[in-house]
Amino acid sequence: MKNKFRVFATCDIGPALDLLRERGYELEIYPQPQAPPKGFIIEKVKSGIDGLITTLRDSIDAEIFEAGKGTLKVVAQYAVGFDNLNRADANRYKIPFTNTADVLTEATAEFAFFMLGVLARKMWPAEHLTRENRWGFWHPYLPFLGDEVTGKTIAIIGTGRIGLAMIKKCAGFDMNILCYDPAFQNHAYINAIQEILDLRHARGISREINWIRYVTFEEAVRDSDFVSVHVPLLREGESATPTYHLFNEKTLRMMKPAAFLVNTSRGPVIDEAALATALREKWIAGAALDVYEREPLPADSPLRDPAIADRCRLMPHFASAARITRLDPDPNKGMAGRCVQGLVDVLEKNYGGDFTKMPYVVNKEAFTE
Ligand code: NAD
Repeated sequence: MKNKFRVFATCDIGPALDLLRERGYELEIYPQPQAPPKGFIIEKVKSGIDGLITTLRDSIDAEIFEAGKGTLKVVAQYAVGFDNLNRADANRYKIPFTNTADVLTEATAEFAFFMLGVLARKMWPAEHLTRENRWGFWHPYLPFLGDEVTGKTIAIIGTGRIGLAMIKKCAGFDMNILCYDPAFQNHAYINAIQEILDLRHARGISREINWIRYVTFEEAVRDSDFVSVHVPLLREGESATPTYHLFNEKTLRMMKPAAFLVNTSRGPVIDEAALATALREKWIAGAALDVYEREPLPADSPLRDPAIADRCRLMPHFASAARITRLDPDPNKGMAGRCVQGLVDVLEKNYGGDFTKMPYVVNKEAFTE
């Protein structure tokens, strides 16, 4: 059967798009690697497309939905985070939007853990030493030492999908884990991790008895050697516990001077000006960042200050950037597959056309009585 749906993708998401071509869709892909200007997206939507595939680089709000009034049926976001998409506007226009949760959970969590290790063990300055031929001798503590990860305490801020996956990885490194989440506390998972930690000790696999528990935000941030952030970006008015600038001068000063901050969530969760000061003035020992208040990171960002380069790792929003995670056409493996399936579910009225039953539709509340 040939479908007549028209779809515009603001970005090439790889071979998974062949599924749409095979199903007879008319597909147009923005040809540049950069994001299209918003006006360009509006023109495409106005031309009567049925489906729009977006990335976190596109700002999707009432202007877009107005342009697609009567024709646009779905926005399929190629990401789990959707802070670039105005949920209230989508609901007002009754446009379902989908995301690609779950398939990027392990890749993002492992990247957060690797960033943490690279930062704490000073792998970046150590490799520079070798490459720049400044490695003159072996010495017990010169020119610098790193800090161990094994056996330390980590705060997990946000115990959703990625936070829980990060906990699993930290447990493997005999870490103690302080969890904070004001909205979702998965006690069954935390209890299971404690059982595993206890068993590892009982069987002589780990030397110390490690522990995990939920605590307040202050306790988590104050009592940890590492703080890893796994929250969505929620601005004032979007949540009773917004995450915008959750890490600011006040909360950064709560951290131990020897502690490290890791952020793979969204840039605006951290006040970057305050963080740059914290690193320069050594309120904390270091930070590893994958996401920024403005992306790509501006040339004049205070985070680029060479004076803090040894303790500030800067990644290019790369945590989910692994081959299978990004491109696999299987909706149970890849973001691309899940994005395409979410779009197809809506356009082809799978699940009896009931948006509330479609697994990848996010704003189900717009379609309940
Ligand atoms: P999720 O919705 O499963 O988990 C988020 C958790 O944060 C929820 O449990 C929620 O209750 C909690 N939360 C909300 N407000 C909070 C607050 N004020 N303090 C502490 N916790 C709070 O989402 P997820 O799949 O785990 O993804 C988390 C975020 O990670 C995404 O929203 C996205 O922005 C980001 N992300 C980034 C990358 C990357 O490439 N760097 C990749 C994937 C996801």
